[in-house]
Amino acid sequence: IHHLNKVYRMGGETLNALDNVSLTVREGDFVAIVGPSGSGKSTLMNVIGCLDTASSGEYWLDGEEISRLRENKLAEIRNRKIGFIFQGFNLLTKLTAIENVELPLVYRGVPAKQRRQQAIEALGKVGLAERIHHRPVELSGGQQQRVAIARALAGNPPILLADEPTGALDTKTGIEVMGFIRELNSLGHTIVLITHDPDISRQAKRIVRIQDGRLHEEEARAE
Ligand code: ATP
Ligand code: MG
Repeated sequence: IHHLNKVYRMGGETLNALDNVSLTVREGDFVAIVGPSGSGKSTLMNVIGCLDTASSGEYWLDGEEISRLRENKLAEIRNRKIGFIFQGFNLLTKLTAIENVELPLVYRGVPAKQRRQQAIEALGKVGLAERIHHRPVELSGGQQQRVAIARALAGNPPILLADEPTGALDTKTGIEVMGFIRELNSLGHTIVLITHDPDISRQAKRIVRIQDGRLHEEEARAE
């Protein structure tokens, strides 16, 4: 990301939610983005995740400058390369665990048999092989977040983006979920994670601080 700006216009007001942000994330990296509420973390994550585009600046993903692409092309890149994990899990309550995990694969046009296979595999990876036909209300918070991680993993995207993935979990369950995320990084997934929690950010390989839309410092972390 080179000199990226994101301006929100609301009526007569403009807000520079991202102000001249530059950031390099390499394959296999594990970056934590920290900063106060309203500092621009989710805005940056949305741009990285191809859910939104910047107002100006460049975003290169795998050698392709994508910051000005149209939504249909962005969606195609997003579906192929990026898995999302959110604070509120964002599971559909009427669907079972396996149906939730299959859903993004439906959007990607993966045939039914293959879909089922990939979903079973992803749920196995997060230790939920025995729970695939449960609905979200029949699962604990930690198990629900594991289903959400399995959904992010289905189709094996190289990049995982997590916005406060442990925010809705108690400490112990949060540690367990972070264990999965670290393991996914060690398996080669590139991870970008937003958090308020210093105990969580410490587990990343790098920490990037954002305040008022500006990236402030970048600390290299000892392994
Ligand atoms: P939190 O920790 O509370 O989630 P954040 O760091 O993720 O905060 P953002 O959601 O990126 O913050 O918001 C950055 C700024 O941009 C805030 O001032 C917010 O009010 C504003 N903002 C975010 N989305 C929009 C939008 N769609 N339209 C207008 N302003 C927005
Ligand atoms: Mg946010």
